[in-house]
Amino acid sequence: MDCPYCKKEMKEGILSGDARQGVSWKEGEKKASMIDKVVGSCKVTAAKVGLSVFTIQAHFCEGCKKMIIDTDVTK
Ligand SMILES: [Zn+2]
Repeated sequence: MDCPYCKKEMKEGILSGDARQGVSWKEGEKKASMIDKVVGSCKVTAAKVGLSVFTIQAHFCEGCKKMIIDTDVTK
């Protein structure tokens, strides 16, 4: 994938982290709340959550310091 900003080739890799909280995304300046987590909203569906880790396939541009992830977010 080419970076949409600088048009250079982006690096493809895997994001990983702690699976206890999963991965959430919420519009605005506040993170997903406990209520969001209880009702199951704001989940980043690209995150494949295992017992102790999650993984996300992502493209990274070293020049622009940006990542692009193909995902949906639960309502
Ligand atoms: Zn770029």
